[in-house]
Amino acid sequence: MTNGVHTETWAAREMKELFEKYIGMDWMDNISDQSKWNKVYAIPDQELWDTHLVLKERMIKFVQNNLCARMERNFQPIELIRECAGYLSRDVLTIGFARRFATYKRANLLLRDKERLSRLLNNPERPVQIIFAGKAHPADRPGQEIIKQIYDLSKEEEFRGKIVLVENYDINVSRHLLQGVDVWLNTPRRPMEASGTSGQKAAVSGGINCSILDGWWPEAYNGENGFAIGTEIEYDTEETQDREDGNSLFDLLEQIIVPIIIGG
Ligand SMILES: *Cc1c(COP(=O)(O)O)cnc(C)c1O
Repeated sequence: MTNGVHTETWAAREMKELFEKYIGMDWMDNISDQSKWNKVYAIPDQELWDTHLVLKERMIKFVQNNLCARMERNFQPIELIRECAGYLSRDVLTIGFARRFATYKRANLLLRDKERLSRLLNNPERPVQIIFAGKAHPADRPGQEIIKQIYDLSKEEEFRGKIVLVENYDINVSRHLLQGVDVWLNTPRRPMEASGTSGQKAAVSGGINCSILDGWWPEAYNGENGFAIGTEIEYDTEETQDREDGNSLFDLLEQIIVPIIIGG
């Protein structure tokens, strides 16, 4: 058994209203009752999707404000600040990654193949955008290096407005991202992750998990409630493991997730 999260704290207000309407006003009192939760299947697809889009729009505004405030503080050119107010689109499939940037969490797994990443994000028919947020421990140089790597990439022409790094990661940032992104990404190097509770927080607002089978995910994943990256085999070296998991994640995104989940 891994750690759990407090559903009432993390579910978005609009989602809780849906639970009240379709499960019942007492949904919180029966939080472990599977038969109660089965009532969520009565939520009409359109109503669920519309609710998700409200949360997604709120999250995008929040991220734009965060990015623009940083640019203003850093005296960036006014054209760039204006451009930043238009970063991210509601109609684009949005992946979120917000965690401590401990190296084992591998925030940079997708950055291992920059060309493939660019093709994924700049796909003209089905583009993708990724929102990163997180802090590294002050003594964790490699973790800080990953933040810098993502920040530098976010400024490059082909990634501008498609990869963004939100600063001042805290519970408020985490809450907005968890409630608003389409896909929640979790890429720890097995078997290092104790739980990875943020995936549970995303799930209670309807977020779709795409995760390595580590921490809480092997307990929760049933083959149809999200996506599993890689396999549970053990590798001889971390380099091989990172390469295999990275390729598996790209395959999953390109062949399954991007074709079946529409952005907006
Ligand atoms: C949930 C949460 C975490 C834990 O995230 P995991 O990487 O999933 O373990 C860390 N920081 C904040 C602010 C959180 O809300």
